[in-house]
Amino acid sequence: MKTLPLTKFADQTGIPFESKVDRTQGSSSKLSIRFLGTAGFIVESADRTIVLDPYVSRPGLWDHLVGPLRPNRDLILNIIPRCDDVLIGHSHSDHLLDAPTLAIEYGARIIGTETTSAIAKAAARHAGNVEIETLVTQGGEDIACGTAIVRGVPSFHAPIAPHLSIGKYLGDGVPFPGTILEEEGETLEWPLRASQFKEGGVLDWLISISGLRILHIDSAKFDRIELERLDVEKVDVLCLCAIGWQKGNPDYVPYLLERFQPRYIVPCHWDNFFDPYRSATREARVWGISRLDSFIEAIQDHATKSELILLQLDGVIKL
Ligand SMILES: [Zn+2]
Repeated sequence: MKTLPLTKFADQTGIPFESKVDRTQGSSSKLSIRFLGTAGFIVESADRTIVLDPYVSRPGLWDHLVGPLRPNRDLILNIIPRCDDVLIGHSHSDHLLDAPTLAIEYGARIIGTETTSAIAKAAARHAGNVEIETLVTQGGEDIACGTAIVRGVPSFHAPIAPHLSIGKYLGDGVPFPGTILEEEGETLEWPLRASQFKEGGVLDWLISISGLRILHIDSAKFDRIELERLDVEKVDVLCLCAIGWQKGNPDYVPYLLERFQPRYIVPCHWDNFFDPYRSATREARVWGISRLDSFIEAIQDHATKSELILLQLDGVIKL
């Protein structure tokens, strides 16, 4: 497994890791997009804060093995100071663990699959039967978030170990397959072990906010039929999941870049999510399975009209 500190990776590839990128060109900033590591982002306009797949707690490998996984409330509130809506692409712990805290503490609405809702409600029950708002979607419907509109796009999870299937732990190469119905969720005892965060189906997210379009590819595999029928020609920002990118669609990078012609491409989920959010060196690490170096090369080979922006954890783009 290859691991490199960010600074060394940047030196070797000539692609700097950015902490702040301003593309507002003199106008007052309308929108900021902050990268939280894994598939997590904060998208913030003047009147709405939408958080995608927050996972700053990042329990270590040992916690994953012996469980259960606990969100780090103080860290979550420190890094995400406000939130109106939380969009969850699928229900694995590295996408969902921190979301219930945002709903419990800020009253944020959680939008995602039924499995996501069932797990979030288990956390709310554990917090003293706190009433939280969840909105279950199968995708394909426009959902108002203030003046922003979000739409889930049905998608797939990249197989982490293709051709390997060990039942409930690794079905068809995808970790922890299956769903949790709302009524099944009523028996869940929070906190959960990693294996209890069932995948629950996958949604990519199309976000229209402040006159801009963001497409968040939640896992490195897509459903071509769903993307073809999407009535969108171009997006401004493509948040592109790296982990497992060589194991899903063979044309993962070229198809998405051609189909959506993004102005900006922001790779995500390339970091080793067993590392703490703010380690002493502030170095996240390139994890072998993500192959960030060849991912960057593939993007550069096909991104003729797009700008690649590699954000550090906490890095922000202003548009
Ligand atoms: Zn996953």
